[in-house]
Amino acid sequence: MKNLKTKISTIEAQCLSELKKARSLESLESVRVSYLGRNGALTDLMSTLKTLSLDDKRTFGPALNQLKQRLTLAYESRKSELEKKSNTSDALFDVTAYKPHQMQGSLHLYTQIIEQLSSIFISMGYTIADGPEMETEYYNFTTLNIPEDHPARDSHDTFWLSQPDRLLRTHTSSVQAHGMEKTPPPLALFAPGRCYRNEATDATHDFMFTQGEGVFIDKNVSMAQLLATAQTFLQQFFGTEKLKIRVRPGYFPFVEPGVEIDGSCPFCDKGCSVCKYTTWIELLGAGLIHPNVLRVNGIDPDQYNGFAFGFGIERLAMIKYGITDIRLFHSANIPFLKQFA
Ligand SMILES: [Zn+2]
Repeated sequence: MKNLKTKISTIEAQCLSELKKARSLESLESVRVSYLGRNGALTDLMSTLKTLSLDDKRTFGPALNQLKQRLTLAYESRKSELEKKSNTSDALFDVTAYKPHQMQGSLHLYTQIIEQLSSIFISMGYTIADGPEMETEYYNFTTLNIPEDHPARDSHDTFWLSQPDRLLRTHTSSVQAHGMEKTPPPLALFAPGRCYRNEATDATHDFMFTQGEGVFIDKNVSMAQLLATAQTFLQQFFGTEKLKIRVRPGYFPFVEPGVEIDGSCPFCDKGCSVCKYTTWIELLGAGLIHPNVLRVNGIDPDQYNGFAFGFGIERLAMIKYGITDIRLFHSANIPFLKQFA
């Protein structure tokens, strides 16, 4: 009879372990059949009862019935666990179900472009810098070698605020001085941000626009480094290694010498409407930082020098994506924005 006792506990242990291992309703059913089914191990064991003495029948009869109950309960509970799991996956998936239309948000084109530009400059070792949109004359003009009587102040069509000495910054070049104040050279900053100019709007001019400003200051910085940086950045932004640059003299009070950098048209070889059939497009204003700018910001121009460049972020995006009106950027025009979702 010891033998029967061992059999009961072995069958119980085996059955419970197989129920636990069953990962699908099919495999669970085959465990049920092999233990609790008509020809299963438990039924088999029960059929041996009739060969036992009356006393043994009294002991093992109830023991086998209790085992059957325990195994049936364990089977039921595993079954409901597996059913729950299959209901949450594809068992209840109804391909004909109606789903109401939902509006889905996406990043604004401004954000996308600024992220693209920032990641290019970060890959070149630049830090992304930020500065206030409400500026003082000192940061917007004086630190950039634009003294009070300088005609460049008038050409900026500044929005003056009612507080004395406060204005909306006319360019992101004002971030340069904040950067130089905070970080001693060597310094590599890229500052994208909003700028404001009090001028009439048309398809290519707006009173509010975004600029990107790059500054690099170290010892023995050369024009060659500026040009290599500009070309690498433009090639990455327009996604073509064929892009070449050419340089023309340009005037900005905060650089000496100042240059205008054109890029070869990323869309054609022989001229197209984007490059106005010239194969070149004006892209950046740049130059080597004027010694006065370094000096006013506490950097010795005999030890350090640097380059700076700036560009209209909308202008680059308009060229890249064929956008014909700058005012669309902040028009909240959903069909326009959806094209870039
Ligand atoms: Zn072209």
